[in-house]
Amino acid sequence: MIQGETMSNAECPECGAQIAQRAGIEVGEIISCGDCGSKLEVKSVAPFGLATAPSVEEDWGE
Ligand SMILES: [Zn+2]
Repeated sequence: MIQGETMSNAECPECGAQIAQRAGIEVGEIISCGDCGSKLEVKSVAPFGLATAPSVEEDWGE
């Protein structure tokens, strides 16, 4: 972790779970909530903010 960089948590807009900000995460990245599995888009990194990702019908190969 980079010294002096403030990492924070954001709340899952779907279930309210606290999601920890990962080092190096960038705006526009899509992450999954570990609790409810929702796809969340990183809207901001300082402060860390999440929004529900648009539910496009794509095959993510999972
Ligand atoms: Zn969630």
